[in-house]
Amino acid sequence: MTSTTALPAYLLPETAVVGPTGALMVGGMSLLELADEFGTPAFIYDEAHLESKCRDAVAAFPDGAAYASKAFTCLAMARIAINAGMHLDVATAGEMYVALRAGADPKKLVMHGNNKSEFEIELALRVGIGKIVIDSFDEIARIERVFTDAASRTAKHFAQQYGLEDLDLDDLPDNVDCMIRLNAGIDAHTHEFIQTGQTDSKFGISLDGGHAQQAADLIKSSKRLNLIGAHGHVGSMIFESEPFAKEVERIAPFVLQNELKELCVGGGLGVPYVVGEYAPSFSDWARGVHGAVSASDLPSDVRITAEPGRSISAAAAITIYRVGTKKYIEGIRTYVAVDGGMSDNPRPILYGSGYEAFLPRAPFVERGLTVTVVGKHCESGDFVVVDGKVPDDIKVGDILATPVSGAYGHSMASNYNCVPRPPVIFVKGGRARVVVRRETLRDLVGRDA
Ligand SMILES: *Cc1c(COP(=O)(O)O)cnc(C)c1O
Repeated sequence: MTSTTALPAYLLPETAVVGPTGALMVGGMSLLELADEFGTPAFIYDEAHLESKCRDAVAAFPDGAAYASKAFTCLAMARIAINAGMHLDVATAGEMYVALRAGADPKKLVMHGNNKSEFEIELALRVGIGKIVIDSFDEIARIERVFTDAASRTAKHFAQQYGLEDLDLDDLPDNVDCMIRLNAGIDAHTHEFIQTGQTDSKFGISLDGGHAQQAADLIKSSKRLNLIGAHGHVGSMIFESEPFAKEVERIAPFVLQNELKELCVGGGLGVPYVVGEYAPSFSDWARGVHGAVSASDLPSDVRITAEPGRSISAAAAITIYRVGTKKYIEGIRTYVAVDGGMSDNPRPILYGSGYEAFLPRAPFVERGLTVTVVGKHCESGDFVVVDGKVPDDIKVGDILATPVSGAYGHSMASNYNCVPRPPVIFVKGGRARVVVRRETLRDLVGRDA
């Protein structure tokens, strides 16, 4: 008999199964045993799930699929994306550094950012970056300036100045391949903070009013910048193919007009977080995009590329917490407090995002009790799950888990209240490995004078 309040299996990582003791296992490891061994809270990632998502993305967009590092990155994650043949999107010097330390081919890095610094641009040029996605008129001038100002300085001097002796840096190249980040004026139906393709946005250069063409002409007149493509990114958590098709329709004339070789549709494919949500697969997404490309007049040699982030890593991870207190307020609600919160997952407080909760000791039982799962931080808005369903017998000491917490959790984690950030544990084939260790109390004063 299936109950209506049980956790649906489709929210769990690919290798999740119920083990011999009845507890949930991922990658052949019991979540309860992982909690005992590594402590809580902890991010548990199904490595096979990450690998298969990366492979699916490359299969769906064979001309180029770039993993958007900001969703979740560390050396181990970047290596999975690299080994699957993905390119990597990096939006800061830090994300570039992680990608390079993981062994990324610099030619497969795409540099984003609406306010790249001169340092970041010089670093990109000296590592031999594949592409820079130009976001503004100021940036065109800034890249030109870096080419001039940094020409006389040696790579060694630059490395010493910034403590980057561990990177393979070179003299400045003669020129760099660029794309233009276009604002195609598309309102996707998503949270306004994660919507980026509408006209009123800090991102990109507007297609309207001739701005984009003016930028293209400026770039084309530069000896340093090779304009090779156009880029759009509608936003995040998009649950249908239609906004992507509309984006292709709007950008295609610009690609044609400027005889560009690449059209990148960005990322933003949604993932289901809670019961009742469904999202297109990578192949559905690609079919929608390629359909719109076919309907346009684009020549067949224009590369169609994409940049999935969340859709690679979100469902790969489960965060495990331990329940510390329970408080019943007559006629109002029951609070269940866990040992993490907004410091490991700020999405609920930032966007009002919803999650499911379950107890790994009994993953698929009826969840008859409605509770608000909160963290341990000194904020009333420190929610983990608002009105979450849990089994009636939930008790202090239980391990509580939130699925689909593999994107924008670890990467947005903070030390609020001086709480050390949780470890990242990869599980696969009955083995667990710590790929990012838990922060220590000592780490918290590691940068202090
Ligand atoms: C954030 C971002 C992505 C990835 O978005 P997801 O919603 O995680 O898929 C891709 N490209 C750009 C330019 C982005 O800013």
